[in-house]
Amino acid sequence: MKTPRKTPDAILDKAPQNAPQNAIEINGVNKTYAPSSKGKNKSTAKKALENIDLNIPRGSIFALLGPNGAGKSTLINILGGMVIKSSGHVNIWEQDIDTDPMNARASIGIVPQEITFDPFFTPRQVLDIQAGYYGVPKTERRTEELLEMVELSDKADAHARTLSGGMKRRLMMAKALVHTPPILVLDEPTAGVDVELRQMLWENVKRLNREGVTIVLTTHYLEEAEELCDQIAIINHGKIVANEDKETLLSRIDNKEIRFRLNDEVQEIPKALEKLGAEKKGRRTLMFRYSPKDQNIGEIIEAINKAKLSITDISTQESDLEDVFLQITRD
Ligand code: ADP
Ligand code: MG
Repeated sequence: MKTPRKTPDAILDKAPQNAPQNAIEINGVNKTYAPSSKGKNKSTAKKALENIDLNIPRGSIFALLGPNGAGKSTLINILGGMVIKSSGHVNIWEQDIDTDPMNARASIGIVPQEITFDPFFTPRQVLDIQAGYYGVPKTERRTEELLEMVELSDKADAHARTLSGGMKRRLMMAKALVHTPPILVLDEPTAGVDVELRQMLWENVKRLNREGVTIVLTTHYLEEAEELCDQIAIINHGKIVANEDKETLLSRIDNKEIRFRLNDEVQEIPKALEKLGAEKKGRRTLMFRYSPKDQNIGEIIEAINKAKLSITDISTQESDLEDVFLQITRD
């Protein structure tokens, strides 16, 4: 990633001493999508969000983590005014989105999950039009700087329809920043993007955050939340099921799985291994769940050797999002 020519001072100016403690406050928000009676997509009313309460601290990188269909995009789109909530209150930078929509919207930049812009415009035009829409005076436009930030300077005058998927996604990020909002929201920024683009997006997110921008991102990758975020809320079936700082959450889900393939069939699990939580997975495989911070694998291997079993193969698995959900909904 290239360093932009100038830092966006305006972002820092928007975070003076009297800046709000919470960048976003969501209280008792519900969303029910109306039933559709038209065409192939006939559906009954769908409750997508149920009584959501969420505060997003200013200055944080906040992850909204959840599986497909959990309600992440619905919540993000309510923030941006693309979806109308059924009830509840939302304040963005202390401005109510119902009573002060213009100021609320001026404080937030949203990169939606779906890429949306007119394919006939060039990246430079896309950014200029968006800046015009937000009333950014010509002298304060950041078009060149933003193009450089997302490494599209050399494509500034190419038709958007000639850009690759990754380039379009980068352009969407630049577009969300034209009015220098103190909050940037990214809905599934790295779903389906290659490793290189993911790295670049992550670097940009980290740098913007260092410059004072509050970041909210949705993802269904635990790894992404782990790499980037300091606060994580988990949403499932339209409800917030966990909301805590990353370290606390990770300490809850810190479990791994290890499997040992053995030379001989195991008829009965030896007592000493049973004590360590061994489970039979097939005739020659034993599986253990363990927490790396409380237990080391050496202990397990020693117990297997003592039981006179010989190991032919070992494999481990990190806990994934599914385990996290299982664990959290079980608690
Ligand atoms: P996520 O972003 O977490 O994958 P969404 O917010 O897109 O979840 O969807 C939440 C639920 O609301 C899903 O069951 C989805 O099918 C439904 N939904 C989303 N958009 C609409 C819509 N425009 N009309 C009806 N139902 C919708
Ligand atoms: Mg979504």
